[in-house]
Amino acid sequence: MPRFDAEYVPRSAMAIYAHPDDIEFTVGGTVAKWARAGCEVTFVLITSGNSGTHDRKFTRKTLERVREREERESARILGVARVVFLRHGDCELVPTLALRKELVRRIRRHRPEVVLCNDPQALFFDDRYINHPDHLAAGKAALEAVFPCAEMELLWPVAGPVHKVHAVYVSSTVAPNTWIEVADTIETKIAALAAHRSQLGDRDISPMILEWARGEARRAPAGKASGKKSPSRPKNAEAFRVMRIVREEN
Ligand SMILES: [Zn+2]
Repeated sequence: MPRFDAEYVPRSAMAIYAHPDDIEFTVGGTVAKWARAGCEVTFVLITSGNSGTHDRKFTRKTLERVREREERESARILGVARVVFLRHGDCELVPTLALRKELVRRIRRHRPEVVLCNDPQALFFDDRYINHPDHLAAGKAALEAVFPCAEMELLWPVAGPVHKVHAVYVSSTVAPNTWIEVADTIETKIAALAAHRSQLGDRDISPMILEWARGEARRAPAGKASGKKSPSRPKNAEAFRVMRIVREEN
């Protein structure tokens, strides 16, 4: 039975997020680390980010095409096995029953040991950022799909045979309980983000990503680190609230 701590690598994982680049910004280092260690990773993008520009040369259709291409390139850099686009409208996402059912279908088909998603309770970050409504909706729909719906035999049998996810790694959370050291994959994360040129242009985002990872690491209490080289505290971290659905053995 897995431990779900900072050292744990699942056999398979599914990241369910709202927009192309969300996964890379929040959990890209962890995804690259797990993929490198043999984890089969699936990305599920609920929208293709087709409202995400102020550049009037795009239409929603042309932007969708560009952003899906960027996401596929980024996923390749991170070592991801597959990318699924559900093509809901960007800035229009709500956690409907229909969306929950779509996600249950994906979970039952690909059968991930772990699901990663946003924290639907994280509305405010300091005084600087009001969380995007799509992030909240995606997080809520993902959690509802994982538990209890994906594992209930009598619910939606046409969505495939039931599947029990072992744990959820909730990112961008105000209440983290696990910090994953990403020092070895942070350059891969930065390279993956650079593939999202429609969002970032040619801007060098390395200083921002490194500062953010160090800031996350500083929030970790001593003893919550991963990696034998840093037994007490991580140096560059991504933080999660890990929810254990299958209980660990002592
Ligand atoms: Zn986003």
